[in-house]
Amino acid sequence: MIAEPSTSEIAALSGVGPKTAALFRELGIDSAPALLEHLPFRYDDLRSATPAALLGRSGGEENAVGRVASVKERRVRGLEIVEVRLLDDAGEPFEAKWIGRNRYAYGRFREGMRLFVRGRVTRTLAGPAINVSHYGQLADGEEYRGELVPIYPASKDLASRKIAAVVKKNFARLLESAPPDPLPAAVARARGYGSLADAYRGVHAPRTPEEAQRGRERLVFAEFLALATAAQLRRSERERDHDARALRVPADLLEEFERALPFALTQAQRRVVREIWSDMGRDVPMNRLLQGDVGSGKTLVAAAAVLLAARNGMQSALMAPTELLAWQHAGKLAPLLVPFGITLEAVFGSQSARSRNAAVAKLAGGEAAVAVGTHALLTEGVDFDRLGLAIIDEQHRFGVEQRARLRAKGISPHTLHMTATPIPRTLAQSVYADLDISLLDELPPGRTPIQTFAVRTSRLARVYEFVSENVAAGRQAYIVAPAIEEGDGTLTSVVAESQRLRAEVFPDLRLGLLHGRLGAREKEEIMAAFVRGELDVLVCTTVVEVGVDVANATVMVVLDAQRYGLAQLHQLRGRVGRGAQQSYCILVYPDDAAERERLAILTRSTDGFEIADEDLRLRGPGHLSGTAQSGAADLRLGDLVRDFDVYRAAKAQAQQIVAADPALADPEHAGLRALLETQPSTRALLLSS
Ligand code: ADP
Ligand code: MG
Repeated sequence: MIAEPSTSEIAALSGVGPKTAALFRELGIDSAPALLEHLPFRYDDLRSATPAALLGRSGGEENAVGRVASVKERRVRGLEIVEVRLLDDAGEPFEAKWIGRNRYAYGRFREGMRLFVRGRVTRTLAGPAINVSHYGQLADGEEYRGELVPIYPASKDLASRKIAAVVKKNFARLLESAPPDPLPAAVARARGYGSLADAYRGVHAPRTPEEAQRGRERLVFAEFLALATAAQLRRSERERDHDARALRVPADLLEEFERALPFALTQAQRRVVREIWSDMGRDVPMNRLLQGDVGSGKTLVAAAAVLLAARNGMQSALMAPTELLAWQHAGKLAPLLVPFGITLEAVFGSQSARSRNAAVAKLAGGEAAVAVGTHALLTEGVDFDRLGLAIIDEQHRFGVEQRARLRAKGISPHTLHMTATPIPRTLAQSVYADLDISLLDELPPGRTPIQTFAVRTSRLARVYEFVSENVAAGRQAYIVAPAIEEGDGTLTSVVAESQRLRAEVFPDLRLGLLHGRLGAREKEEIMAAFVRGELDVLVCTTVVEVGVDVANATVMVVLDAQRYGLAQLHQLRGRVGRGAQQSYCILVYPDDAAERERLAILTRSTDGFEIADEDLRLRGPGHLSGTAQSGAADLRLGDLVRDFDVYRAAKAQAQQIVAADPALADPEHAGLRALLETQPSTRALLLSS
């Protein structure tokens, strides 16, 4: 038997041969339903033709219809130039011009043909001239029936026009391939949406812009509803069993904690500690995200959470992405906990078997109150006597599965996630839909602000002089570049730049080189040498980004700063300014790059949230997916920023649905359930209930 392509495969569509199918797949469109959800990002409005006499008034693109009076064609140095004179229905003349780009125009037009053309209009002595972006031929006597032409995300070899043609030709078949409607009928009705098929028609072949907008909103709402329902299911599952330990919060514990500190808590710290303690006082496991800019004092908040657990006889585990970061956490936490008689045990892969075994035994026996280590702590056979609190630093993958694994062992700890990655306030709650959020939006007083400069590459020699001066004064510096080796494009490579620096610029300084292609052990050793002050300058890629603290490092130089988003630059900048000394961040960009204005945002502001807002405005939310891995990364249609109101409505709807029908067993919810069953993180929840 010969295998036929399944009918929903892209290659099975009419007008799609193997070559075109491959081009579709390159765009991520491998099936009929995927094509149906490949939405136009705008529409060219070809609905009404403007009389020649009125052309050129709008300043934008305009449409005209006319009969060809004469055709002039020539080739100039490989460029094809086609100039057609037309007369509109009132007999008024205008000109249409094709220059170079459209090879189909050349040799195509004859006197007497009727055409519609669209493009930007210039007015000449001879009348209006249209620089054609779009055109078509009308049959003799055919009325001009203008339309909204969908413009699809396309590629060099697969033009929007071709995509539109395939969609149009196969539309009925595409609709048949659509998955069941995830919107319950009552919800669709309440929001004034038509059928799902109408929404697709409205988006792909709208008669009016309103129809397109309405159709898109329905699709986006459904996508948001699925996202929010998934989060709500996770939340209600977590809240259902009441299997966490409700901790008692002594009335004067905050005062006692503060008395042991060398300084007063900031207002924000006090508020956030209360939020966390209040969660820990419930028998529903806490799932809270602590967001705070670098230097906002998250360690202290973590210590307060550990203290409450310890006072209730419960153990805590603090986990960081790397051993070095875990060590640093341990070093900062320990002195905060000593006054309370709480000691830490470190559990690392690189530890000697003997000390590791000793630590593991103390944790299992319950003599040790706190474990600090990498994420391996919870996964690699470390047993706790009474784990009550898990603190997870800078990573968001501690999710449903890890929780399930712990619960299988009879443990349901309160969980606190900590991140220094600022996510705009409006987004945070939706991106991390199953997390409650605490914001540390205030820096402790008495900090010397980091001075930030944006300079052109032609002044790099002066920048390096400045680095030398700081090193001579006993300080350390980071030099960050985007590429590892040369040949990764025109970008500065850390390997080449460190060689050059060693040979020509800083022959007398101790230089370290750090990048992602080094082994984990080697990376840790170099970083540790920098921490111990055995290196003056660390040339590195952004591997250094995650929260390492070197109080003596006061200069951060970022080469090819144009390559980084503002939020990422802000993160890099946070590597300095950790001590009492004045620190500097120098952003270097190519002489020919128009970067001054963008980078000026960083020279002006040190508020991570403000910067994240700007970043979002400039780059759109797509780039968030790198940092915000839960949920939002999967959005295909909606845009949490632009469609925030729709999101909010969908979220409220999801809460109602889950409250009324947590198993999504009602036939009304079959479509929604079917959609969620394709997502691993909710699939398990649905199948178990
Ligand atoms: P984060 O982890 O959020 O980047 P840290 O917890 O490392 O910040 O705190 C940064 C620095 O600020 C530390 O040196 C810490 O001792 C100090 N600090 C924290 N809270 C306060 C406070 N309320 N008043 C003064 N200094 C503080
Ligand atoms: Mg920290």
